[in-house]
Amino acid sequence: MTSANAPFVPPGSGWPGDPATPATPVAHTPDEVRALAAEAPTLHELCARQSVCRACPRLVEWREQVAVRRRRAYADQEYWGRPVPGWGDEEPRVLIVGLAPAAHGGNRTGRIFTGDRSGDWLFASLHRTGLAARPTSVHAADGQRLLGARMAATVRCAPPDNKPTPAERAACLPWLEREVAEAAGSVRVVVALGGYAWQGMWPALRKAGYGLPRPRPAFGHGAEVPLIPPEGTPFDRVTLLGCYHPSQQNTFTGRVTEEMLDAVFGRARRLAE
Ligand code: SF4
Repeated sequence: MTSANAPFVPPGSGWPGDPATPATPVAHTPDEVRALAAEAPTLHELCARQSVCRACPRLVEWREQVAVRRRRAYADQEYWGRPVPGWGDEEPRVLIVGLAPAAHGGNRTGRIFTGDRSGDWLFASLHRTGLAARPTSVHAADGQRLLGARMAATVRCAPPDNKPTPAERAACLPWLEREVAEAAGSVRVVVALGGYAWQGMWPALRKAGYGLPRPRPAFGHGAEVPLIPPEGTPFDRVTLLGCYHPSQQNTFTGRVTEEMLDAVFGRARRLAE
């Protein structure tokens, strides 16, 4: 008799890159997300707290249901089944932000953009442009590293149909706000992958103290917006770049090509230097 699939990986049980331990405090409400994000003493602890959050009942149920049922191709693999925390350089020059993890990608591997088709396109481009050590990102112990870059999501749990509700986005925002604030001392370029990430970054950047243009410029591939970094930052310009999301829909239809991704990440790399 086989045992039932687990709904999530217990914190601190040996999953590669798991930032949490059994003692990591768990947020059960949006108020607790705000408090735990604000009080996290380090970026590592912030990510640990992100990775055990249970503040959105619909998303918790969905991510764990996916982990139990699994896709046939991954039936023999344990699923992460938890929020996917920020990942990469602790003092990044380039911050890359997406909408949310994929049900059988980040929700399976525990690492953002890892183990799905979007990630295949993204990491191949990041490698070609010098921002990732390897051209692929398939599982949390594959040795992949970001080079001077960091990745985060505006919503940390895989949502049904890739569509988080406005309330879920609002609940998750404090995790991103604090991560953006922690990285502000080194970040020269922010890349928003897709229009939702572009929208989601705005309040996080404002809260972290960035000076933003009004009205908000429209999202587009290659859109470039100068931002004023928070007071006390040792440089005077940060750039927000728009990039179409390398979703299967976009790559299949040719809306996004390898050249288009390389153009944005090559630009990000040059600006960051
Ligand atoms: S989406 Fe964000 S706030 Fe909601 S449960 Fe996941 S990590 Fe917590």
